[in-house]
Amino acid sequence: MDLPALMPGTLYLVATPIGNLEDMTLRGVRTLRECDVVAAEDTRRSGQLLKHFGIARPMISYFQFNEARRSEEILERLKRGEKVALVTDAGTPGISDPGERVVRAARAAGLRVESVPGACALVAALTASGLPTEEFHFIGFLPHKSGQRRRQLEGLKGVGGTLVLYESPYRIVKLLGELVEVFPERRVVLARELTKKFEEYLSGRAGELLEVAKKRQLKGEFVVLVGGAAEAGPGEGVV
Ligand code: SAM
Repeated sequence: MDLPALMPGTLYLVATPIGNLEDMTLRGVRTLRECDVVAAEDTRRSGQLLKHFGIARPMISYFQFNEARRSEEILERLKRGEKVALVTDAGTPGISDPGERVVRAARAAGLRVESVPGACALVAALTASGLPTEEFHFIGFLPHKSGQRRRQLEGLKGVGGTLVLYESPYRIVKLLGELVEVFPERRVVLARELTKKFEEYLSGRAGELLEVAKKRQLKGEFVVLVGGAAEAGPGEGVV
């Protein structure tokens, strides 16, 4: 197949694996190989990924605390006709990760932006969770402060679709405790370590999952899904 060359002056958002390196797409590899520069959330981490695929390209860092300055630099490069690939530590750039700012700036400047899709924890978790996928609401990370978290969760009570949250392993027990308070009857799914060796889906009421978390330390990365207001509650027991 004759593959089209990358377009000059284009920002490519390249999804990278969320655990399993086999999830790197062929197009993602080619984009990283053929771009002029890779803008990475963590150059050391993405450097390892590039090395794994035998790719050597110049890299610049692009992360939360230098997004404004680096966005300017990336825009200048695009205007000069460079092909810039943006990657984050894992998954799809712009989803609870840096990217949104430079995309908005590039679009506002009339520059070309293309998605090179691939792994995304929210889609992987939602589609395998057994919860309704027709309508869902991506919440991402809740704020850290207890009052703000509680208010945000309370505000989601009337939402009809499946709720999808990201949570760090250090706060998973705290989140389950909050879900017991706000959504005691809803079906909750913990999607843990997706695409990795210990991938696991735990499904039940928040209270039941909290009991599990007390008995065995739940480690790794989590997507937490909560059945929407329209969803029937689960039967008894963790599945
Ligand atoms: N941009 C990424 C994406 O496309 O999914 C998300 C980046 S965000 C900083 C990291 C969060 O995504 C983790 O705290 C966890 O909630 C979720 N996550 C990432 N990889 C995961 C995995 N392998 N299994 C479960 N959750 C994962």
